[in-house]
Amino acid sequence: MGASAPDAAASSLVHGRDLDQGERAWTLAVAFTRGKSPASFDQWFSGVQFDSLTDGVLSLRARDEFVRQWVEDYFLPTLGDRLRVQTGLSIQVRWCIDGTLDRPVADRPASFAPVQPRALSVRPRSSDDASSPSDASAHRMVPAPPPPLPRVLAVGPPIEGLHTKYTFANFVVGPSNQLAHAASMAAGGAGGRRHNPLFICGGTGLGKTHLVHAIAHRVRDERLDARIVYISAEKFVNEFVQALTDQRMHEFRARYRDKCDLLLVDDIHFLAGKTQTQEEFFHAFNALHQASKQIVVTSDKYPQQLDKMEERLVSRFQWGLVADIQAPELETRVAIVRKKAQLEHIELTDDVCLYIAQSVRSNVRELEGTLIRLAAKASLLGKPIELDFARTEMAATTTARPNEASVEDIQRVVCHHFKLRSTDLLSKDRHKSIAFARHVAMYLCKQRLKCSFPELGRAFGNRDHTTVISAVRKVEALRTTDPEVRAHLEAIERKLGSVE
Ligand code: ADP
Ligand code: MG
Repeated sequence: MGASAPDAAASSLVHGRDLDQGERAWTLAVAFTRGKSPASFDQWFSGVQFDSLTDGVLSLRARDEFVRQWVEDYFLPTLGDRLRVQTGLSIQVRWCIDGTLDRPVADRPASFAPVQPRALSVRPRSSDDASSPSDASAHRMVPAPPPPLPRVLAVGPPIEGLHTKYTFANFVVGPSNQLAHAASMAAGGAGGRRHNPLFICGGTGLGKTHLVHAIAHRVRDERLDARIVYISAEKFVNEFVQALTDQRMHEFRARYRDKCDLLLVDDIHFLAGKTQTQEEFFHAFNALHQASKQIVVTSDKYPQQLDKMEERLVSRFQWGLVADIQAPELETRVAIVRKKAQLEHIELTDDVCLYIAQSVRSNVRELEGTLIRLAAKASLLGKPIELDFARTEMAATTTARPNEASVEDIQRVVCHHFKLRSTDLLSKDRHKSIAFARHVAMYLCKQRLKCSFPELGRAFGNRDHTTVISAVRKVEALRTTDPEVRAHLEAIERKLGSVE
């Protein structure tokens, strides 16, 4: 951030009275530090008062020891640095604890009240005082309150492993991801009920990683002092093994237990079968949870479907909120294509946008890939992306045709009909009602799509093709003999008839 905005703001604070050098340096340093995380700054500096800065000695008052400690740990490194640069002196801080602060640095936690040195603390008689630039002496006697500093866009320090574009602003919300989105916003401190842990699950390419990155970005920008750890479960395993090898377990534990305010672990299913890492994660989880630190975990399965995962971990994953993400509906897909085109500066007509959204149904990553490929080809050939061009190009690369249901559509409708979650169909669960719904879905897929048995086996949680064959035969037979089964099938077929 350049110093020009705070500089200009600080000089306008003077209003007829020259701040002494120390006050001026302090004001600038405050503007800079606050700009990084206004909400957090205001919260803590409503308990801090500036007394003076003379010959490198900064005298501050704190409402209590807790505030002093916090400010010292999280704000003074930045403030001190800034002051050192501005004054050319090394800064020494003298604190005093004073329960009754009359001029806190931020006197309203929600908005910044700039520093008002003692001599300026007189309130104006009327608002006219502030608007009359001609009478400097009047200002001296009855100074106007300084105008608020311009809000500097808060950008916290970078966090390892975060994709800069995976923000809430770039995430399209629809019925398929509404719950996960709202819960992520709340976990990121945007209001709403916070759940701990937040467990986000769903198939690949549906936006789980995007959401956890968005949480991290938001918390970082709102709370400069927040210690955020984002890690994939795979990297967690590697780090753990490395720490064991190097005998640096105390460091590893400190990072995940003591020095962490927000822990985001992506793709937790990767811990399957890794008992020692699971044990370590279990203890980190407990330590953070007990300290009310937010934990967010993503997974491609629901907690109870995680294979080779310790029961006590699975049960902890269910303590908070389990929010799933389903494949997006057509409207959401259209909005996503639009958003991605806008972000990538790709010009797209509405009909092409719709065509792409209709053709790629199950996976947002694929949707995005299709758009990028199309744009790259068009740019290579120097052509605009028109509908005919999109049709021809995509015919070669995408299998599904518009207006034809996909395996995922059928699975979605079947789940909706039997009130199951979509991952139930892919799970190993042999419970009678789930197995029946699975068989029905397999049967309908075979009837309606040009999929082979092995293809269907893969689409239903990597099952053997013989399982699909026997399921299809069973439902075929029941359809003729069992009126209840027939009624189910007809109801689902009616819904499928109206799918998009
Ligand atoms: P997952 O972690 O579930 O496999 P990702 O979060 O990596 O999926 O998402 C895959 C791609 O799709 C990313 O580029 C992401 O930005 C995009 N994406 C997914 N869902 C959405 C959405 N609702 N809005 C915008 N982009 C999305
Ligand atoms: Mg992911």
